[in-house]
Amino acid sequence: MRFAKRLSKIPPYAFVELDRRKKEKLLEGIDVIDLGVGDPDIPTPKFIIEAMKKAIDDPANHRYPFGRGKQELREAISSWYARRFGVSLDPGREIAVLIGSKEGLTHLPLALLDEGDTALIPDPGYPAYRSGVIFAGAKPVYFPLSPEDNYLPKVSSFPRRELDRTKLLFLNYPNNPTSAVANGNAFEEIVHWAHDNNVVVAHDAAYSELYSGEKPISFLQTPGAKEIGVEFHSFSKTFNMTGWRIGWICGNPDVINALSQIKENIDSGVFGAIQAAALVALTSPAAETEAGRMRDIYAERRNVLVPGLEKNGWHVFHSNATFYAWAGVPDSESDVLWAERLLEKWGIVATPGSALGEHGGGFVRFSLTQPVERIKQALDRMK
Ligand code: PLP
Repeated sequence: MRFAKRLSKIPPYAFVELDRRKKEKLLEGIDVIDLGVGDPDIPTPKFIIEAMKKAIDDPANHRYPFGRGKQELREAISSWYARRFGVSLDPGREIAVLIGSKEGLTHLPLALLDEGDTALIPDPGYPAYRSGVIFAGAKPVYFPLSPEDNYLPKVSSFPRRELDRTKLLFLNYPNNPTSAVANGNAFEEIVHWAHDNNVVVAHDAAYSELYSGEKPISFLQTPGAKEIGVEFHSFSKTFNMTGWRIGWICGNPDVINALSQIKENIDSGVFGAIQAAALVALTSPAAETEAGRMRDIYAERRNVLVPGLEKNGWHVFHSNATFYAWAGVPDSESDVLWAERLLEKWGIVATPGSALGEHGGGFVRFSLTQPVERIKQALDRMK
């Protein structure tokens, strides 16, 4: 058999590889503590599951869910956005439901890029941006996120080569893997640059609701952002719904039209019952209580993990957002060696930063997706 060349351009998906290594260790009988993949350990809240159970009995949900998502769900997203960010979105033109934000993020390049075009991608960053760009036959060009800039994007650090072929820029705040949170100034600089260079900005806000203290802002709050940009959101992390596969894109209607054209030819939408449950997730009074409970849980875990790592010599970037701790290794050894050591010696899975980009070298990402007791155990093993 002969396979497409594009497959060989994509390295193994970092988290799939991590999962494989973890399973190997489990088969060897090792008690593995998984601080690797960003997948919440706590189940989806009961009220969402109950809504799903009800919706599954409705025959209207058994048919193809064509289109950009149920009108009621897009209206609920619009109201939620207005409440949360003070941004107004037209449910008809400026919102489309996705099969998880990853699906939209990887399909977007098909709608914007031709062969020979380039897209700017943060390094380190979530690997799906790169995959989508390569699948579209275009070229990823990386820009560094560095601790000196608090991991905020600096337009002065964008490579100037091939700028005339650059049509798309990916950003992600609160950031995976660094946990950095963007401010209005950083977004304003990006909006000006994107206007000047005729580049579409795709801002990935999958972690917008995971914070303690100050609320992260939306890219679309920036004046002029909707003219050049879109924002991706997810139910996965906010409501512990990673397995359900639902998210949305919102913002510039032309970009959403173009993506919808791609999607109409690839998928047939999100199962109606999942959309009905997502609507309840966004509108139920129980949602805020649940979100608050999750924030408290992650804050408690962070307050155990971060000082524990620091006591062991790790240099942790301080942030109250996402469910990651981004930690510089305690010595001059590589992050890959450290991740190997964590797994081989102590049975702890964590993500080496360089698996998420060259500039992630020297750092390891720890997920807060284990109970406090397990985090304490991991720290004890590392002492
Ligand atoms: N964006 C970032 C930065 C992520 O870390 C993830 C998942 O880990 C996603 C998007 C994908 O989320 P979803 O489950 O909505 O596809």
